[in-house]
Amino acid sequence: MGTISIALSKGRILAETLPLLARVGLRPKEDPERSRRMIVATARRGVRLVVVRASDVPTYVGNGAAEIGIAGGDVVLEHGGAGLYQPIDLGIARCRLVVATRRGVDYRAAVQQGSRLRVATKYVNLTREHFAGKGVHVDLIRLYGSMELAPLLGLADAIVDLVASGRTLRANRLVAVEEIRPISARLVVNQVALKTRRSELQPLVEAFAKAAGRA
Ligand code: ATP
Ligand code: MG
Repeated sequence: MGTISIALSKGRILAETLPLLARVGLRPKEDPERSRRMIVATARRGVRLVVVRASDVPTYVGNGAAEIGIAGGDVVLEHGGAGLYQPIDLGIARCRLVVATRRGVDYRAAVQQGSRLRVATKYVNLTREHFAGKGVHVDLIRLYGSMELAPLLGLADAIVDLVASGRTLRANRLVAVEEIRPISARLVVNQVALKTRRSELQPLVEAFAKAAGRA
C-alpha cells in the first residue's frame, strides 16, 4: 500500500472540511489552518493532507500528484475536470455563482438590446459558456480576485462571482441580477488511481460519502 495524498483547498473551504475529515478518521496531526507546513500527516498511517490554493486542487488531483481532493464546484467546473472522477457533492461551502452589476443598472434591458457587455471574472470558461448559451456577446476581463471593484471603477459592466450571504455585494452597492448555478464543494479522485488502487481508494470515497450524508 502506498501513500495516499488528499489535496485540500486553503481558505474558506478548509474550515468546513475539518469536521468531515474527523468523521472519516483523518484528523490532521497538526492544525493545517495554522501550520506553515504544506504536507500534514493524519491519524491514519499512509494518508496525508496537502494544503494548496483552492484553484490548484483539480490540477494536483488531475495529474495524480494527489489521489483525492476537496475542491469548490466552481473550481472543478472552471478547470473542466480532465483526469478527475467526481463521485460526491460534499454539500459544504455552499454558495451561488451569479452575475452582478451596480445597483440601478438595467441588466435585462442591456441583454435584450443585445449590447456588448464587459464582464470581469476569474471564471472565464464558465462565464463564456453562460453568455454563449444566452446568445449574449461579452468581452471577458480576466481578474484574479476582488471582482467587486471592477464595475465600481468602470472596468466592467458586470462581474461573475460567488455569493453566499450577499454582504460583500451589498457593501459595494452591487446586486446579483442572474444566478448561473448553485455551488458546493466536491470530492474529486484521480481517475487512473481509482482504477489501479481501487481497494485503497474506494473505502475512503465511501467513508466521505457517509460522512457527508450522501451514502
Ligand atoms: P485565493 O484567495 O487563494 O485566490 P480563492 O479566492 O479561490 O483563493 P477562497 O475565497 O477561500 O479562495 O474560496 C475558496 C472556495 O471557497 C471557492 O472556490 C468556493 O468554492 C468557496 N467559496 C467562495 N466564496 C464562498 C462563499 N461566499 N461562501 C461559501 N463558499 C465560498
Ligand atoms: Mg479569496
